[in-house]
Amino acid sequence: MKTGKHARWKLVMVTLGVATTASCYQEPPDVGTLDAVYAAPAEHVRISVLRDGQTLGQLLEGSVSYNERASLLLALREHANPRRMRAGTEVTLRFRRGDESLRGVDVATSRDETVRLSLVEGAWSSELVRTPIYVDTLTAAGEINTSLWVAVVGNPVLNSMSPGDANRLIDQLDKVFQWQIDFSRQIRVGDTYRFAFEREVRPDGSMRAGRLLAAEMVTANTAYHALWFDPNEDGDGSYYNLEGESVRGEFLLKPLTYRRISSTFTNSRFHPLLKTWRAHRGIDYAADRGTDIMATSDGVVIYRGAKGTFGNTVEIRHGNGFITRYAHMSRFQAGVNVGTRVRQSDIIGHVGMTGLAGGPHLHYEILSDGRQIDPLSVDLPADDPVPSENRFRWRFEMTAHVALLEAIPGAGPVRMLADDQDRDQPEDHPGGAQ
Ligand SMILES: [Zn+2]
Repeated sequence: MKTGKHARWKLVMVTLGVATTASCYQEPPDVGTLDAVYAAPAEHVRISVLRDGQTLGQLLEGSVSYNERASLLLALREHANPRRMRAGTEVTLRFRRGDESLRGVDVATSRDETVRLSLVEGAWSSELVRTPIYVDTLTAAGEINTSLWVAVVGNPVLNSMSPGDANRLIDQLDKVFQWQIDFSRQIRVGDTYRFAFEREVRPDGSMRAGRLLAAEMVTANTAYHALWFDPNEDGDGSYYNLEGESVRGEFLLKPLTYRRISSTFTNSRFHPLLKTWRAHRGIDYAADRGTDIMATSDGVVIYRGAKGTFGNTVEIRHGNGFITRYAHMSRFQAGVNVGTRVRQSDIIGHVGMTGLAGGPHLHYEILSDGRQIDPLSVDLPADDPVPSENRFRWRFEMTAHVALLEAIPGAGPVRMLADDQDRDQPEDHPGGAQ
């Protein structure tokens, strides 16, 4: 876990005394002579957990007088509904040492928030306290022996990650490369990956959120890069390659998310089918019945209905004369009809086995001038590159992201283009724009 990882603390909301309940137990550190008043905690705590069907008022019974309970619950109401507390909610009662009077109650209303009730000059007041989280950057690299999923989940660096967090990470890799790489079709033994992933970690080690900062995939000797950049610094950024070109393309390579494709996990009885591309003139993706099917590009629905051996089929007309076809659906997405305008990644239907199908799968085709073509062969202009006025900051951040990838032990240098590629950008110096 220590590999290539650096952490920095970020308090989402700094509030005095945000300490987790555990710190109430901690003895002060041994720093030599210290005034007695600081030597022992000023309070002791009792932690209870709300049982199924139990209200907070019931939990407080026995520890707190009726009147005090009423004013406590009143104060709590500013931030939470005491009647809507889920079972398992942790309630910490804090008592003053000596007279053992109640001086505070912490109610952990969610994993990230605690309502802190305090007795101040005889009256109960409440404040909402956010659990402090820290952000660390996780880097990992490896070679793929079976599938991307197996490789990433099996990476020792990610050992401590929960399966859910590992899945989210794989979803992000799939998302940033969905225009360049079809992880279910293109990955070969010996392909490599590396990435730097920024995550927000709760004190208990679980992940709250995460963002892929930089990633590299090398497949069939071609390196693909995706580096996060936020041109307007408003959180609404995107991914660009080493040259500052957008990774977004006019077509997603596949209409399903990678993890939903069955061959992702097993050695795949469907691989033989995938290999019959020439005879078959389409791609079959095995997936569970009901799996969401996305439109691979913006367009207009021109067919929606049963279509012979294709079963329930949607066809979409796109710019440049392309048509995409999605067959064997169990059902269509509500609101998708002939004439409906759809955007890339919109859900248009769900995987099934209507028509002639041996099992639930999606049959997907791209047609150009009426002829089926392999989606991997479609080469259309990408989305806009990094705006020229942001070029200087982009280069700075890109270099930092590349450094993260190169710092991974054994991962080697990131393949860069010759530096003269955009040297003649006039805005490429500080103060050039904005
Ligand atoms: Zn098919």
